[in-house]
Amino acid sequence: MIYLDHNATSMPRPGVAEAMLATLNRPEGNPSSVHGPGRAARQTLDEARRAVARLVTVHESRVIFTSGGTEANHLAILGVADAAEKPATLVTSAIEHPSVLQPTERLAQQGWRVLRLPVEANGQIAPAALQTLLAEEPNVRLVSIMAANNETGVLQPIETIGALCQAAGVRFHCDATQWAGKLPLAADAIHADLLTLSAHKLGGPKGIGALVVNAALQLVPQLLGGGQERGRRSGTENLPGIAGFGHAATQVAAHIGTEAQTITALREKLEEGLLKSLPDGIILGHRAPRLPNTTAIALDGIDGETLVMTLDLTGFAISSGAACSSGKNTPSHVPLAMGLDHALTRSVTRISLGWDSTEDAVDRFVHAFHRSVDRLRKGSHFA
Ligand code: PMP
Repeated sequence: MIYLDHNATSMPRPGVAEAMLATLNRPEGNPSSVHGPGRAARQTLDEARRAVARLVTVHESRVIFTSGGTEANHLAILGVADAAEKPATLVTSAIEHPSVLQPTERLAQQGWRVLRLPVEANGQIAPAALQTLLAEEPNVRLVSIMAANNETGVLQPIETIGALCQAAGVRFHCDATQWAGKLPLAADAIHADLLTLSAHKLGGPKGIGALVVNAALQLVPQLLGGGQERGRRSGTENLPGIAGFGHAATQVAAHIGTEAQTITALREKLEEGLLKSLPDGIILGHRAPRLPNTTAIALDGIDGETLVMTLDLTGFAISSGAACSSGKNTPSHVPLAMGLDHALTRSVTRISLGWDSTEDAVDRFVHAFHRSVDRLRKGSHFA
């Protein structure tokens, strides 16, 4: 099986499993306990926290471990909203991940005014639109805009967005789940008060992530209890997950420069190959700044879900739309927001390369993709 679905989840990097196993195989205590085994666990926790902090160039005290990107997004959005005396305005975009969109929908039901910035045809929001909105809306409490889109890889102008928020005195949450690990990132360079990270998108384990928080920010915890994570997220820490996350973050730091270059070159080869054999293919956000690893392609007359299944049978793993929402047969909101019609939106498949992708895999995939599309267009799945 050739795995080209790293935006859904990335393969664990070398050493991650061992780092996790080490926490399970030795008598490690509860990091909150004062005895020796507890202190050993605390040391593992602290080391991982430092590694994650280095990944986004912040002091370790700003890292709150969560159960993943979804929980970090909830803590950011609901935590800021709960700190407001009364419902106010929240600004987000039309292409956010459902783990951002749905908590904002809940806030809308509770009386918040939720404004969703549209995107241009290239998948980016226009900073000028945000600037106008911030000038006109007196009561904006939070702006939540993702760094890179999971379906298209299109990057948002987050430095500009962060600067606009800062100038307007508005808090900025950035869901950097897809960006982190693929391109360098510094929380302060983008003026992010809140930054979401997820380990399994950067070669760490699933079920662990972090919210990086500005120390001065008022954030109401969403999980109450033992007061772990400086009282911001209670619950005994997921030590194996955290150790794996720390290890993956260290690996990313060591390889990010070369990886970004290698993967960009592979992606160029991939897109060149795809468009050569399928010149009518539309690569979403083709001319926009994008993650090095992501290609989303729309093809007239193709059902994306069927294409994914056909490729699976021939040994290739890719996805249609967002894997996180697959199973639901509704067309994805992201290509629709970029102006694609329903039929083209349903045709979109996403290929996302990763740290273990090779040139040979790309060559074989291009060939298989072309053959599968050809068969589907001719109407015979099993030829
Ligand atoms: N945000 C984005 C942009 C994502 O791609 C994902 C995962 N698909 C999440 C948030 C949720 O992360 P997790 O799977 O760790 O809950």
